[in-house]
Amino acid sequence: MSAVKSVKQIDVSGKRVLVRADFNVPLEDGKVSDDSRIVATLPTIRHLLDQGARVILMSHLGRPKGKPDPKYSLRPVAGALADQLGVPVLFLEECMGKSVEDAVGQMKDGQVVLLENVRFHPEEERNGEDMSAALGRLADVYVNDAFGSAHRAHASTAGVTAHVDACVAGLLMEKELTFLGDHTERPDRPFVVILGGAKVSDKISVIDALLDKADTILIGGAMAYTFKLALGGKVGNSLSEPDKVDVALEAIRKAEKRGVTFLLPVDNMIVEAVDFDARTVGESRFTGEGEDIPEGWEGVDIGSRTIELFKREIAGAKTVLWNGPMGIFEIEACSAGTFAIAEAVAANQGCVSIIGGGDSVKAVKKSGYSDKVSFISTGGGASLEFLEGKVLPGVAALDQV
Ligand code: AMP
Repeated sequence: MSAVKSVKQIDVSGKRVLVRADFNVPLEDGKVSDDSRIVATLPTIRHLLDQGARVILMSHLGRPKGKPDPKYSLRPVAGALADQLGVPVLFLEECMGKSVEDAVGQMKDGQVVLLENVRFHPEEERNGEDMSAALGRLADVYVNDAFGSAHRAHASTAGVTAHVDACVAGLLMEKELTFLGDHTERPDRPFVVILGGAKVSDKISVIDALLDKADTILIGGAMAYTFKLALGGKVGNSLSEPDKVDVALEAIRKAEKRGVTFLLPVDNMIVEAVDFDARTVGESRFTGEGEDIPEGWEGVDIGSRTIELFKREIAGAKTVLWNGPMGIFEIEACSAGTFAIAEAVAANQGCVSIIGGGDSVKAVKKSGYSDKVSFISTGGGASLEFLEGKVLPGVAALDQV
């Protein structure tokens, strides 16, 4: 358990409870097209309703640049949420001010209101004092369940907490902290970390932090080519960061020193051309084991020997943390490696498996294995910053146990 106080540890009955949720959902034709983020917050809302609280929900949606924009209204979320909860959700067209205070003042126990997008005000992202105080006036208790926004010090994630006596974590937030925090701080071993994605520069701090915790680190995706360069290999036209080879080499050295098994792909799928928009690739083949990637060719996925090597490591793990695809998984022809990893993680039912946000979440969902893993993080940038060991402002602002 993390040291942050949970909503389960306080009395909320009859209280006005202001919940910062993450309802930043995709909309199509004015309707919610993927309600996963709404579903993820249901346990917290249901808990509050069961306890007889008055639930006031707030969130951001998109990037409306500090002014009202109907395109980013949270109104469609009210309907989708009411369907899920089976109770009415009253939508308010503002998130603060007299009309909101009046409406909240008339709420009865067990009622739910949803405020309009907090990012319709420039003060939200500036963590403005007036907005923080105005939000605070709505609440006896503040609950943060928006892990995905906790890396930002905004009025609704940080500032507001100075104006509410009790500030606690929601059940989703608690789960995120338990899996990304506790399970990686004190993992059942062996602890195998799988990292992929586009750039070493985006993930080097995560690699560095996990080198202190993991037993094995498996590297895939374009990131692997910078490591290949660092070891004197050639990567042809593959996406790589030649200016980061020193950083990559340092990570390899640190792994050696710490006794962490650090595995790079031993073979790759390579292509002559990629058309990302058309989702097609040109001529393709696999490299032999240890072979360089020739000029004019681009690495787009891990090869079958690498898949077998990584699968063996994953099968023996007691804790697995995965962040980042093994190749350009958005293109079907380059997705085999990523989906094989998803399958291998799902197949190991004896381990705690954590999908650490971002594109690996999309990959696991697309592969159909999402219900076979222990936890899928709802945070993208927040998950990475948390795994780097950074203190997230939205977490730091909550009461400690
Ligand atoms: P990230 O956000 O860092 O996890 O990166 C995810 C992106 O990395 C996805 O859009 C992938 O298509 C991309 N990616 C993974 N492997 C490769 C590769 N070999 N070449 C180019 N892009 C890649």
